[in-house]
Amino acid sequence: MNKKNRICPLCESDTYKVVKRINKFKIVQCRGCCFVYVVNPFSITYNYNECNELQDESVKKNAHPRYRHLQMVKLITQKCNGRKEYSVLEIGSGKGELGHLLSKEPNIMYQGFEPSHIRYTLCKKKNLSVTYGQFEPSKYTNKADAIIMDNVLEHVMEPTQLIKETIDSLNKGGILIIAVPNVHDVRRFFPKWRKRHYYQPHCHINYFKTQDLKKMFRRHNLSFHPFALSSFSLKAGTPFLKIMLYLCKIMLDSLNISCSGIYCYGIKK
Ligand SMILES: [Zn+2]
Repeated sequence: MNKKNRICPLCESDTYKVVKRINKFKIVQCRGCCFVYVVNPFSITYNYNECNELQDESVKKNAHPRYRHLQMVKLITQKCNGRKEYSVLEIGSGKGELGHLLSKEPNIMYQGFEPSHIRYTLCKKKNLSVTYGQFEPSKYTNKADAIIMDNVLEHVMEPTQLIKETIDSLNKGGILIIAVPNVHDVRRFFPKWRKRHYYQPHCHINYFKTQDLKKMFRRHNLSFHPFALSSFSLKAGTPFLKIMLYLCKIMLDSLNISCSGIYCYGIKK
């Protein structure tokens, strides 16, 4: 655990009220901007339990892309729009699911960063161009046309700083794609889901709502866009009920109503 308490990662206020205590972790709400965060996190939050999780062969075999990955690929190919070269930087390549899909697309030059060694190894097995370690602007001398942070911001000590650094590495008119868990996720009312996915203070230390992301985007001169219906994409064999639920989510997202994970992108002005 950190010996020193974190200040609010969004507005830098140091006054808060405690929302919840889980083991020794304190989940608090900032009195300045209402952001919810862990005030006393572990110093490393990206590889907790990774050995248990990733040494399991079934997890490796099932590292299939998620629906949001298909949406991201569609969004990126739409933005690429036949350009000869379109560079994509992924911060936090994970198990390489998205990188694998993007690398198959013509004209897309993929580069990733991954700080967890086990996940990095899985990316290399997929022959992805991934650098081991946290993203550092000095290690990425290009400018990207699209940057992706898929379930990354909830883990980092200074999300505002990370957004600033990524935007510096983005071309004008380029897009920053972000997916984060939603503190207002309606599934939290189901005890089984809540227990497994909601508060995970050992690894999730920032709890965003859509308004928080909009604020951060505004501060960095990015326009805010939810994923639109035009990026809807499905795997073959998806059950009908899942298709309907997924369509509902995208339609609500496009109306700026986030009821589960927040998927959005900003365009650098
Ligand atoms: Zn705050």
